Amino acid sequence: MWRFIIINTFSFFILLGAHFLKRRFFQAAALMLITVAALAAVFQKGVDPFAWFYYLSFSLLVFFEGLQFKRWIYAKSSALDGEIHEALKKLETARALLERKTKATNDINRRANEMHYLYDKMKEISKSMDKFEALLVFGEALSGQCRFETVVLALFDEEDEGAQISEAIYCLKYSDFEGLFDKSFILKNKKEFMVALDPFLRKIFKRVFERRTPWADEGVNPSAVYPILMNNKVSGILIVTGVSCVQSGALSVLAGRFISEIERVKLYEKVETLALTDGLTGVAVRRHFLERLKGEIGRSKKFSFNLSFLMIDVDYFKDVNDRYGHLVGDVVLAQTAETIKKNVRELDLVGRYGGEEFGVLLVETDRSGALLVAERIRIAVAETNFKAYDEKLRATLSIGCASLSKDLADAGSLIEAADGALYEAKHRGRNRVCLASR
Ligand code: GH3
Ligand code: MG
Ligand code: MG
Repeated sequence: MWRFIIINTFSFFILLGAHFLKRRFFQAAALMLITVAALAAVFQKGVDPFAWFYYLSFSLLVFFEGLQFKRWIYAKSSALDGEIHEALKKLETARALLERKTKATNDINRRANEMHYLYDKMKEISKSMDKFEALLVFGEALSGQCRFETVVLALFDEEDEGAQISEAIYCLKYSDFEGLFDKSFILKNKKEFMVALDPFLRKIFKRVFERRTPWADEGVNPSAVYPILMNNKVSGILIVTGVSCVQSGALSVLAGRFISEIERVKLYEKVETLALTDGLTGVAVRRHFLERLKGEIGRSKKFSFNLSFLMIDVDYFKDVNDRYGHLVGDVVLAQTAETIKKNVRELDLVGRYGGEEFGVLLVETDRSGALLVAERIRIAVAETNFKAYDEKLRATLSIGCASLSKDLADAGSLIEAADGALYEAKHRGRNRVCLASR
């Protein structure tokens, strides 16, 4: 009996000490000891009321200490929960950061690829010297970036103040880039062009023309319209309709590149035309004419085509100058050139060979055909009433005609033969056509 009392009293003091010292380990150990002692006492016989009082008070202590211990465990576990929660939060933040970084890297890679693509395509656009080809490359480049319905390039005649679309209108459809492309998509007149546009776009067209600034809309039919400027005048308009990337950088970069390319090609064509055509008469200059003559001779021989050459000289032109003055003479020359051009086909070439001498290159034309054309030109000029300033006068032509043959197989001999025929025409009284004997 005393053994239990001693154990219990000893445990009680340990428990008390542990409780005040807040030493959880001792508290737990004392509680265990008390429990063991209590259980042992319950199974002992002859336990007195004093011992029962002990058990009761110790049991209460066990209960309260147990409660406190539970609270302590709970506090510990909730502190642990808090730490775990904090750690999870940190992990989540790190994950979000990583995700953002990955997205940014992907974005940068995508942008870099896009820039690379645009750079390549821009280089490709810059290579073409032809407006339609440049449009094709632009369409292809754009189709690599987004979808669109049509790309329309309308070019105005520079001389035309009313900005009628007289130079060219090119229209491409998205499907053209799936191997179905056909040059017949080129629409050639204003009426067709206007039909191709809906009334809404027509309004935009007018607006861009007046304001000279690009315009884009993300509405039902997302479209972008860009003016093409030359000497501060709208010389053309680029319209992209049904475009899925109306606000993307790719569209404006490609369109900007394409437009400066069109401006460059137009400028190049202008310079080339100026260099190749004679200022007074508007026909080819002698150098260009001779180059083309040589080229056509080579082509005709290769494909066994006929080719004829006319050498034309204005009769008594010195007298015109002497009588009416050089200014009047100039007008007569310009009108003569105009009449000659009107009487040959588009594919034939008229050139100013010398002062009042013209050459005409008649492709795929034999001797008899050349004779007919020469006669037509001669008659047309002879029947023309030239009007220069206040003067009215007539003029006639002498024409020498030669055709490509075994004997006349190069530019030199062809020109010589035509010159000989011209001399003969002059000799025979002028205002006539003579054929070279060979
Ligand atoms: P024909 O050919 O019938 O023998 O007589 P022609 O009087 O036409 O012959 P010629 O070749 O002697 O004279 C050509 C004249 O053309 C001489 C030159 O003053 C004139 N001429 C050449 N180029 C121009 C030009 O650009 N403007 C003007 N007004 N006259 C020119
Ligand atoms: Mg002459
Ligand atoms: Mg003459």
